[in-house]
Amino acid sequence: MIKVVKFGGSSLSCGENFLKVKDIVQADPARCIVVVSAPGKRRSDDNKVTDLLYTCHAHIRYKVPYDDIWENIASRYREIASTCGLRQDIHAELSAVRESMTRQSTVDYIVSRGEFLNAKLMAECLGYEFVDATRWLFFDFNGRVDYEKSYATLAQILESSPRVVLPGFYGALPDGNVHVFSRGGSDVTGALAAAAVNAESYENWTDVSGILMADPRIVENPRPIERITFSELRELSYMGAEVLHEETVFPVRQKNIPLYIKNTNDPAAKGTLIMEDFPDENDEEGKRFITGITGKKHYTIITLSKNRMTDDISFVRRVLQLTEKYHLTVEHIPSSVDSFSLVIASSSLEHCLHSLISDIRQECTPDSIKVCDGVSLIAVVGRRMAANAGVSGKIFETIGRMGINIRMIEQGSDEINIIIGVMDSDFARTIRTLYSSFT
Ligand code: ASP
Repeated sequence: MIKVVKFGGSSLSCGENFLKVKDIVQADPARCIVVVSAPGKRRSDDNKVTDLLYTCHAHIRYKVPYDDIWENIASRYREIASTCGLRQDIHAELSAVRESMTRQSTVDYIVSRGEFLNAKLMAECLGYEFVDATRWLFFDFNGRVDYEKSYATLAQILESSPRVVLPGFYGALPDGNVHVFSRGGSDVTGALAAAAVNAESYENWTDVSGILMADPRIVENPRPIERITFSELRELSYMGAEVLHEETVFPVRQKNIPLYIKNTNDPAAKGTLIMEDFPDENDEEGKRFITGITGKKHYTIITLSKNRMTDDISFVRRVLQLTEKYHLTVEHIPSSVDSFSLVIASSSLEHCLHSLISDIRQECTPDSIKVCDGVSLIAVVGRRMAANAGVSGKIFETIGRMGINIRMIEQGSDEINIIIGVMDSDFARTIRTLYSSFT
């Protein structure tokens, strides 16, 4: 069976990290397909090569010299090649790339060179074959992946080249030109490669030991999540947890391929396993009902009241037509008999709140409209909440004991999430309280 392994920029930022990656790949002969990002930051004040390439593109476009930036990029690859003792002529490779950048200066082509060069170096480092992404990952002219063609082509390439390194992040348009995913897109390349070969697993290697149960900037040393379902991951990601590129999940979920998040700096750590479900879980983690806690600040709650609102059956529709007119995403609509609220990200209301309110006043004639901003939404996510009576009682009791006022409550119908609205000033305290009480 084949495992697809993808290494992110922080795992490939320098020669020393390349050697760690080499050890990881060689530790398991099933790791036949390796997908790489461009070199990331070595320190917090460092640059990602992709960012530097975007800057090069801007310079080329405005015909401004960019020798210093290019030298910064080139030195990264030279260091990797020399630390790993590689024999390929990296200088010639770099000159060819630089020359091609001036000739073919689309932004997508230029920024894709970070992955291209890293994959060339990694291929030699591992003794694997380099397969350019434009040979197998195809987009249509709208930038949508052509799954069928891409999967079939990669499967065919592997018949003659069973061990390959693939650059992440880009592929080819029907006219052969390079097209990139949005930032972080190498995650998607890895998922597509895994789906193409029906891989045994897709391992996404990064610099943390899995997805954390809470944001480490809020909770000290949060534990990694050992297992999480795709639906739980979607809830956590939507509410602020930064984990994988959004489009990563679809290809592997469709083929039911287990997805692991692993740490290049600590390969022995378990990491996080993401799957559709875990039918027979009875381990320690299985006893905890919360998988993860996350949240976002700065929401506005607009509450509309109207006497005998239930008799006016088009009231809610008319209000929602107005939010649609202003292209607003309504996150939640909590309601009572004669009132309901719209929970909307404050940033999206910045330029239209007053017009929206005056439209609602004129067209829907509510008795009153109240606007409350500075609200945070906290998502408590856990697949085991569904089967556990009393879970929400425990959560609200704990928050209440801390003297935190809850502005809004919502539970998804599949019961894997509970959303709690509190004031922004209570945001961190609520997350810490929930984490320390229930995980
Ligand atoms: N190098 C690209 C970026 O920085 C793609 C990736 O790393 O996944 O966004």
